[in-house]
Amino acid sequence: MSQGSNDFMFEDEAEMQFIEDNDEADDSQAVWRILVVDDDADVHLATEHALAGVDLLGRMPEFLHAYSAVEGLAILKNTPNIAVILLDVVMETQDAGLKLVDQIRHELKLTIPRIILRTGQPGYAPELDAIRKYDINDYKTKNDLTRNKLFTAVLTAIRAYDQMMRMEIYRQGLEQIVQGSSDLMVQTGLQAFSSGVIQQLSAVLGVDPEGVLCAQADLDHDCASNEYIVIAAAGRYQGLIQHQLDEIDDVQIRESLKLCFQKRSHLFEKHYAVLNFALRGNKQFAVYVKSRQLPSDIDRNLLEVFCKNVSICADNINLISHLKDSAYLDKLVGLPNRAAFIDAIDNCINNNLFSEYSVVLIDVDRFAEINNAFGHSYGDELLVECAKRLEESFGIDSLIARLSGDAFGMLGKSATLIPAQIRAAIQRPFAIGDTVEHSVSFSMGIVRLKDSHGKGQAVLKDANIARKLSKQAGSGSEVFYAPEMSSDAKERTHLLQHLHGAFGNGRLHPAFQPQVDLLTGKLLGFEALMRWRNEQNELIPPDKFIPLAEQSGLIIGMGTWILRDSLHFIRQLELEGWHDLTMSVNVSAVQFRKTDFLDILQAALHDTQANPKMLELEITESVAMMGQNLVETTLRKIRAMGIAIAIDDFGTGFSSLSYLDRLPLDRLKIDRSFVTSICENADSGRITDMIIQLGRSLGLRVIAEGVEHQEQAERLLAMGCSEAQGYFYARPMPAAELKTWLLDWKIKHSL
Ligand code: C2E
Ligand code: CA
Ligand code: CA
Repeated sequence: MSQGSNDFMFEDEAEMQFIEDNDEADDSQAVWRILVVDDDADVHLATEHALAGVDLLGRMPEFLHAYSAVEGLAILKNTPNIAVILLDVVMETQDAGLKLVDQIRHELKLTIPRIILRTGQPGYAPELDAIRKYDINDYKTKNDLTRNKLFTAVLTAIRAYDQMMRMEIYRQGLEQIVQGSSDLMVQTGLQAFSSGVIQQLSAVLGVDPEGVLCAQADLDHDCASNEYIVIAAAGRYQGLIQHQLDEIDDVQIRESLKLCFQKRSHLFEKHYAVLNFALRGNKQFAVYVKSRQLPSDIDRNLLEVFCKNVSICADNINLISHLKDSAYLDKLVGLPNRAAFIDAIDNCINNNLFSEYSVVLIDVDRFAEINNAFGHSYGDELLVECAKRLEESFGIDSLIARLSGDAFGMLGKSATLIPAQIRAAIQRPFAIGDTVEHSVSFSMGIVRLKDSHGKGQAVLKDANIARKLSKQAGSGSEVFYAPEMSSDAKERTHLLQHLHGAFGNGRLHPAFQPQVDLLTGKLLGFEALMRWRNEQNELIPPDKFIPLAEQSGLIIGMGTWILRDSLHFIRQLELEGWHDLTMSVNVSAVQFRKTDFLDILQAALHDTQANPKMLELEITESVAMMGQNLVETTLRKIRAMGIAIAIDDFGTGFSSLSYLDRLPLDRLKIDRSFVTSICENADSGRITDMIIQLGRSLGLRVIAEGVEHQEQAERLLAMGCSEAQGYFYARPMPAAELKTWLLDWKIKHSL
């Protein structure tokens, strides 16, 4: 130290003490860069003279000189790590210094260098506002700047700079750790995880990944062993993998690891560090890495955070790999099962990783059919192969699990789990056993964790909602979950619960809509339509609840009920003198598929004493197309009982007309959509015309539904359709109302 600097030492001994404490070996070479910007050459000389050779927090100052603001800016652009800028206010212009400050903070975005403003004339003092605005450390008139005062001002500025730099490094380090642990989080295998740890640790220390991770041999079992094995190694130590600790030739590595295990604490040496990771159940593992220098306080703090994070991850990983033989593994495909998957999602959420992660639910389309057609062992092998393909393509950075029969789950980064790539991985044809290659399609429901609001279980529920929607969209599609879907699903569940109640409490009733002969004006019969009036006395339209009832199977009970109720009603009418009227009852595919459907029909006819000739069943084209042989046989039996059969909504589902020829049918019902526009556009007129001709040529009766206006009726009649149903004649009515309507009708038509 120069003689002059001793003055300062006396002045502030506490500061000097601090200097001694911070004098760390490797920092001694480092300097603090101080930039002097002043148009007065004497100020440069005086400044340098005052501070040259002074020890500032363990480092020497290094001076850079600029004689104008422009020159100052150029130096700042090209020189990193300038700690303090001593800046003249008045140079080229009256405020050149202040302008430079603005450029430093805003253009160059240098927020950390500390700035001390100096001016010759007190009158040029910047406003207090400017000091705040530009984050200026200090303001001095040049007269103020005695040696002592200059030293104190510079020292204060350097201390502030140093702290800000440390914070910055710390912030960057933490960011890296958070990122690193999120990458480690989804590793399932201990080995992949362990090499990840070496990588991350090296990144935190700023050295090449080179190191050894050694763990208790039974890390993933419940006993505690004193045997240690190298689980992962990177760089020149690669050859050590799977070796026992005692087999490591390098004495330094071997002994330092042993010491680390023994002491259960970190070891820091100048050229290496050994970090100790404490795990649940008193277990531990340790990582040996090369380093360049002793870690600073910041490094140690960061490493501590890193170790804690990694230990948490390791416990989670351990949880998964540890569950190998327990309740968490699916025996068939060797993947974690549903419980493990839910745990992993929970962990992901608990560790605040939901912003970047997604869950994908994959399901094999028509798996039940595949199973039936090729046998269960074929199905099993197919699942094993799916698991293998998913694991091979995504297993490294995502968690794959089997959730149930044919459903797999994936948990990983949203950027990785791209549906098209998942498909590419699994959609190749499967060649299993000696069967021919077989193509399989998959449906996917995807939830970005940030869109879901619960823990693992709830996330899976949401994924399932999306998966169901993807099934509805057709084989091989995918749907991303959106919160509205949940409310739709909730609404449906709610509605279904109420529908169950309504059915049980007699809140459903039939309405009957008359059908008439256009030519003679004669009443032909009725169609029975279901009505639901809820507790609030609102009518829920059948289009809303029938599909729900079909999906849930409730339609079977409901269908039987309306059949019996309608037959009972028509029989009552007959007893009251209304002869030769028919009752059309809608039958869903679900009902039709039940093997006891014929028995149900038989029983309903028997119990109500209704003549089968009074009954007509309305089936849709989709039923007619269902599996031709079965449908044909059933329909023939129904026909043989004397019941008539109509195809409902005819014209909307055209897929093949050949069935019309083969099936025993009585009537076609032209869909309302054609009738509505029959007078408006030529197209629907043509289709209606065609349907009528078709019916005629097949010897079937044709009825038009949804007739609302006289012109429609006239048009239909002109085309050769002589039967109709619609608001023009009557709306569907409850039994009591219909009886009044019948009396009216009788008077009008003087029957
Ligand atoms: P659908 O079998 O095509 O029934 C005809 C629908 O058209 C009925 O609607 C009826 O009220 C309506 N409608 C009749 N004439 C007119 C008209 O002139 N103009 C207009 N705009 N509409 C008319 P609804 O009662 O809402 O039934 C809707 C659907 O719900 C039915 O269509 C049927 O598919 C289903 N559905 C109703 N009841 C039952 C049932 O008991 N069992 C089954 N499986 N499905 C039913
Ligand atoms: Ca119908
Ligand atoms: Ca219809």
